Amino acid sequence: MKTEFSLAQLADPDIAEADKILRACVHCGFCTATCPTYVLLGDELDSPRGRIYLIKEMLEKNRPPTQEVVKHIDRCLSCLACMTTCPSGVHYMHLVDQARVRIEKEYARPLAERLLRAVLAWVLPRPGLFRWSMMLARFGRPLTALLPTPKAAAASPTLLRRIKAMLALAPGSLPAPGPAGGSVFPAHGTRRGRVALLQGCAQQVLAPRINQAAINLLTRHGIEVVLVKDEQCCGALTHHLGRDDDALARARANIAVWLKEAERDGLDAILVTTSGCGTVIKDYGFMLREDRDFAVAAAKISALAKDITEYLGGIELQSAQHHSDIVIAYHSACSLQHGQKITQAPKELLSKNGFVVKDVPESHLCCGSAGTYNILQPEIARSKGRQYCEGQAGHDCCGQYWMHGADCRWYVSSCSAHG
Ligand code: SF4
Ligand code: SF4
Repeated sequence: MKTEFSLAQLADPDIAEADKILRACVHCGFCTATCPTYVLLGDELDSPRGRIYLIKEMLEKNRPPTQEVVKHIDRCLSCLACMTTCPSGVHYMHLVDQARVRIEKEYARPLAERLLRAVLAWVLPRPGLFRWSMMLARFGRPLTALLPTPKAAAASPTLLRRIKAMLALAPGSLPAPGPAGGSVFPAHGTRRGRVALLQGCAQQVLAPRINQAAINLLTRHGIEVVLVKDEQCCGALTHHLGRDDDALARARANIAVWLKEAERDGLDAILVTTSGCGTVIKDYGFMLREDRDFAVAAAKISALAKDITEYLGGIELQSAQHHSDIVIAYHSACSLQHGQKITQAPKELLSKNGFVVKDVPESHLCCGSAGTYNILQPEIARSKGRQYCEGQAGHDCCGQYWMHGADCRWYVSSCSAHG
């Protein structure tokens, strides 16, 4: 794609990066076929190619973001399927991240939307506050029946619909909190390695058993696990809302505590069980490349970050009990398959342990959940979820998708249609 940035514009490292990305795009449109919003809405401006044009115009002409640009960028799930499909290696993620930062800085959203985004950015990365808000939301859930029902992919979701989506996501009960930061779990037997495990923010409130299972598995295989004290949310949440000052502050704080831990007692890896967080931590090196004080340390931390399946694939595991009668339908998270390009490791681990693993049809397409997307774009998320379910082996959606909070992991694991 031809670009016409001035030399003065190109002196800005972000614009220079955007220029490089834009020039790699050859307009072929292959990416449109795997873009969930284009597949659903059929509008070129809701495709990667369309969004790339919108971002190019905004950056090149140095124009403030218009309502039109914001609408189509907001509709992007950041699923990154377009990056997997693109034959020219267009780094869409870095381009859309930059567009979101500019939108956040320069576009005046309606007051109610600003407030909602501010609440999400404040509450979700703070596990204590998030736990309280989930408990309060339980009392608000009965009110969802009084709120309007979301329709298919309306142009702009209203605040009431977003609140309804948010309340629907609140679980009926919360599990007990997991272990606190600063906890160390010694290896069973001879120590073969030592890792930090990202504690996460929302996950440690909603599903602490995931990290507990990782700790059990790792320590059983001789790996010492530490939950680093003073670690924060990785910043992915605010990064995707375009609030980079917050995201970068969190990244710097985490880099400092992880490096201290690595220098004091050694770390072979920083393991992540939430792939959206893993994608961002692996990108710290890029995000802080212009920061003189943190660039080197950020690159080091990014190199240490590993998805749990990546790490387990590299160590010798004890021979498994075989469960050849258990069939598992596996659908990878977008951030894992497209963001980190990890596609085989989880399936190989399951197969090696005796499970029969089946691919989900169209599994390259996002389920529509996408972090806070199912709150901020509830109609599209819901339509995407239904489309996803209806594409599964000829089964119709059981209609419970929305009840499960538009989270396909809940849905797929609990839906009898998927066996
Ligand atoms: S990240 Fe996903 S939703 Fe956004 S443009 Fe790419 S494929 Fe489409
Ligand atoms: S597939 Fe890649 S090169 Fe082709 S239009 Fe999409 S982003 Fe551009």
